[in-house]
Amino acid sequence: MLYDIVIIGSGVAGLSAGIYAGRANKSVLIIEDNNIGGTTVTLPNINNYPGFTNISGVELVSNMYKQCLNFDVKFDFLRIDSIDFDRNIIRTDNNIIEYKTLIIASGSTYKRLNIDTEEKFKLHGLSYCAVCDGNLYKNKKIIVFTKNNSAINSVKYLKNLTNDIIVMDISNGFAFDGIECYHNVLPIEIIGDTNVKGIKAMIGISEKVLNCDGIFVDLGKVTDIDLYKDNLQNESGFLITDENLHTNIPNVFVAGDIRKKSLRQIVTACSDGAIASTEAIKYLSKNIF
Ligand SMILES: Cc1cc2nc3c(=O)[nH]c(=O)nc-3n(C[C@H](O)[C@H](O)[C@H](O)COP(=O)(O)OP(=O)(O)OC[C@H]3O[C@@H](n4cnc5c(N)ncnc54)[C@H](O)[C@@H]3O)c2cc1C
Repeated sequence: MLYDIVIIGSGVAGLSAGIYAGRANKSVLIIEDNNIGGTTVTLPNINNYPGFTNISGVELVSNMYKQCLNFDVKFDFLRIDSIDFDRNIIRTDNNIIEYKTLIIASGSTYKRLNIDTEEKFKLHGLSYCAVCDGNLYKNKKIIVFTKNNSAINSVKYLKNLTNDIIVMDISNGFAFDGIECYHNVLPIEIIGDTNVKGIKAMIGISEKVLNCDGIFVDLGKVTDIDLYKDNLQNESGFLITDENLHTNIPNVFVAGDIRKKSLRQIVTACSDGAIASTEAIKYLSKNIF
């Protein structure tokens, strides 16, 4: 089957792209290999998406999904084996999908500490995103995990909200100016009942328990760009675009967290989706198929 626009990923970037493409009367397929809604659907409370004092990820994503369906956007749940960028073909287990334009919106995930208690305290005092959750810790005591200087921007952002910050560096490299900083830290256990109360860690050769109200982990992000990396320009795992989200291939665009950019948030992912779709629509108008 041939589509005007195929979108890989049904996070908020992909859904926004779908809404804009569907409203322009294009034939659109969104391919997802997991759940609709990507990371956003897992968030119980979003309070920085403009227009909503508080909305759950499920509600936001459900609304966007309905908008897509209203504009006749199709969804398919499958695993992509390969993409032939010369012939505009996506290969799956038992199918071939053809596209005129392609929007890649397959997101990224945060690197984790990989300790047992991590899952339990996620959203209960353990965060991976200073811009998302920093505001919850105004004037509170927080610990930030970094690997070398990976958390430098998070620390700068959090300094707007509290002076009570300790940095724990799992490597041995970086000094954060004017901030208490431990190096060679091996986290052992997050301490707390329902909410984070502290962390137990090896610092050098001694075990320590430090109390805090919240823990931020900023060890960087991981993307899966295996499908694209031989054809699309990329850097440190992120795909490179120009400001209108064009890649080095004229009919391929990128939106959302998988893109090299400075702020990875729902609002910027949605904005990317809208821009990428509009550029794909322009491409279709210029190139009569
Ligand atoms: C804990 C946490 C809290 C956050 N809180 C906030 C907040 O309060 N406010 C805010 O603005 N932002 C927040 N963010 C950031 C926000 O969630 C992301 O910026 C946003 O979800 C990015 O959307 P996306 O569509 O680019 O990617 P994603 O949400 O990652 O979606 C990508 C989708 O692509 C799919 N996919 C990946 N590879 C393939 C493939 N090969 N084939 C098919 N499908 C594929 C994935 O399954 C996924 O559904 C938070 C992030 C986290 C982790």
